[in-house]
Amino acid sequence: MTKRLIFLGPPGAGKGTQAKILSQEYEIPHISTGDILRNAVAQQTPLGNKAKDYMERGELVPDDLILNLIKERLLESDTEHGWILDGFPRNLAQAKFLDSLLAQLNLAADRVLYLAVPDEVLISRLLSRQRRDDNEGTIRRRLEVYRRDTMPVIDFYQKQSTLKTIDGNDSMEAVTAALKKAIS
Ligand code: AMP
Repeated sequence: MTKRLIFLGPPGAGKGTQAKILSQEYEIPHISTGDILRNAVAQQTPLGNKAKDYMERGELVPDDLILNLIKERLLESDTEHGWILDGFPRNLAQAKFLDSLLAQLNLAADRVLYLAVPDEVLISRLLSRQRRDDNEGTIRRRLEVYRRDTMPVIDFYQKQSTLKTIDGNDSMEAVTAALKKAIS
């Protein structure tokens, strides 16, 4: 059975951690636009050089840099049995782009999993991480951008009834178990 999974949730919800665990378990690629962008920044590629400032400010990188990147990635040969998208789609335009890309390929997402975590928990989790975009000002901005741009995506998938909400404010093991139950 294919598993085309989209993980949604605020920064610090545990999407990356859970996506890594489940990508091993199901042997499907973990596709994180944040990881792809951080790599591009580290290697100073043209994409990285364009994305760097936005990332350091906690803003979204413009769609024209992201859409083509995700399209190319989803056409690679390791995606045949599914994938986990982590950090994409981040706004409605990206969600609609993904929808029509998948429709063109005669595919659809099997599950959209929304990891819900209260704000105060997110902030303390993010402050204890060691990432260069995890200082207090940027964290606040990333949460604002999440509310403004990404929350409408949750609504979008809720209307398509592919969305399941998972309580992300629990131990790593409990969240993994809840996700597996929702996916199977
Ligand atoms: P993340 O690791 O998902 O928290 O992403 C880190 C940063 O990369 C974000 O704060 C954005 O600046 C950028 N980014 C990651 N994914 C996207 C996306 N789908 N659209 C726009 N910007 C993104």
